[in-house]
Amino acid sequence: MAKSQQKKTKKSPKPSHPHLRILVTNDDGIYAAGLKVALRIARSLSDDLWVVAPDSEQSGASHSLSLALPLRVRKHSPRRFSVQGTPTDCVLMAATQLIPDRRPDLVISGVNRGGNLADDITYSGTVAAAMEGAVLGIPSIALSQVGDVAAGRISWVTATRHGSDVVRRLLDAGWPDDVLININFPTRPKGEIEGVEITRQGKRDQSNAVIDARVDARATPYYWIGFKRVAMDPPQGSDLRAVYSGNISVTPLHLDLTHDGARRALKKSFDAPQSKK
Ligand code: MN
Repeated sequence: MAKSQQKKTKKSPKPSHPHLRILVTNDDGIYAAGLKVALRIARSLSDDLWVVAPDSEQSGASHSLSLALPLRVRKHSPRRFSVQGTPTDCVLMAATQLIPDRRPDLVISGVNRGGNLADDITYSGTVAAAMEGAVLGIPSIALSQVGDVAAGRISWVTATRHGSDVVRRLLDAGWPDDVLININFPTRPKGEIEGVEITRQGKRDQSNAVIDARVDARATPYYWIGFKRVAMDPPQGSDLRAVYSGNISVTPLHLDLTHDGARRALKKSFDAPQSKK
């Protein structure tokens, strides 16, 4: 075999799920570094890859849809598009307009720049893109790399090293419809992890939205929302504890937000005969 051919073979090992049509999106935008990491993961599974991502950063967009604005689409290459909209818009556009013939079999959203743990989940554009996939009946996975976003310190090494393996194990195991998978990779200097832990959504120890009041060059005040985070002692089994302990956290989430205990208690109370006043 010629040297160049050998090199090529080594560069592209056979994908493990060659017929799997994968949509990759990322709420940090079409040029996000984490999108490249997600593409590497997707490429190890299949070569039927499609990218549809927002044209600008949409972190914190949650599950919002653009209803009052038109959606402008830019085609970067035959299978790569950016949308002037939210992560949810992107998944919807991909599944219904941009990818011909058949819908994707898997949505990979991420890898997000920063964790999506505990209370982050309801704000997250990354998780919301996976939610939209689940709404459309497509198995969907959100991937996030924990790191100090405010300090500009994100290392992709853990997600890069372990992403494919975790996603492949998940695909082998399977999960129910209406469930999406939220994966968070811990910060580890060389990507060496303790293990993979199946977790539940935690509660932030202390997640204070800090509103930074500033003044612009023309003396007009403006404000910037940030978060002050203090790591404390989250319970065992939570997503927070898992990543603090150096594990990859895998949390199955569902879209039904009903609190069943409260529902039962309220039903009991409302069904009881009312005392006459
Ligand atoms: Mn983001």
